[in-house]
Amino acid sequence: MAESRFWETVPLAEMSQPQWESLCDGCARCCLHKLEDADSGEVFYTGVRCRYLDEQGCRCSDYERRSQIVPNCVHLRVEDLTEYHWLPGTCAYRLLAEGKPLFDWHPLLSGSPDSVHEAGISIRGRAISDEFVHPDGYDEHIVHWVD
Ligand code: SF4
Ligand code: SF4
Repeated sequence: MAESRFWETVPLAEMSQPQWESLCDGCARCCLHKLEDADSGEVFYTGVRCRYLDEQGCRCSDYERRSQIVPNCVHLRVEDLTEYHWLPGTCAYRLLAEGKPLFDWHPLLSGSPDSVHEAGISIRGRAISDEFVHPDGYDEHIVHWVD
């Protein structure tokens, strides 16, 4: 367990870069393609993932160049968090922005990067690369395990 539960006392806007980065639980849910209902604005997650994701590790295989290789890859910034209503309900950034606690499987609490996989939160083993799905067919891959 993290020695200091900084996320309970330090506002998101005042976190250091390492603290901010450590909030990411490594679920990779944000690397799934999403569809938005044009009328209601409701967001639906699909089981189609970005081709640059190392699915086993649930990490970007080219993190430094992610914005160049995937123009719509999202770079989370504290000043934009209110716009990220589409983030999964389990995402630490969204949870903290909404004043909610982290789940006990979060690596900062469990002390292990594997707990996000063991709890069934990560996309490991559950997604298909967008190399193999035409964008017009994403709606056939809508999933309900991301809230
Ligand atoms: S959804 Fe949130 S916690 Fe999960 S990988 Fe993306 S930024 Fe990190
Ligand atoms: S480029 Fe990397 S961080 Fe961006 S969506 Fe793809 S795998 Fe995720």
